[in-house]
Amino acid sequence: MLTCKKLIENGSEYLEGDMSRWQRFKYKMHLFMCTHCKRYIQQLKQTIAMIGLLPKQEPPAELEEKLQKEYQDIMTKK
Ligand SMILES: [Zn+2]
Repeated sequence: MLTCKKLIENGSEYLEGDMSRWQRFKYKMHLFMCTHCKRYIQQLKQTIAMIGLLPKQEPPAELEEKLQKEYQDIMTKK
């Protein structure tokens, strides 16, 4: 089973479609059951879309990291 940590680490690959079909399936299953990750992916998607609109920006690695940290904090507190 895919863990929350793993899902969050590879969130951008999922959104960019940069993974195998089986992996995507596992992601979807997890997102279906896990509200935290679902929210994380939604937020990451928005972040990527927002950055995509800006002309010539740095890759969102830093922002993604920030987002990852926030969500990992939420999930470890549970
Ligand atoms: Zn999760």
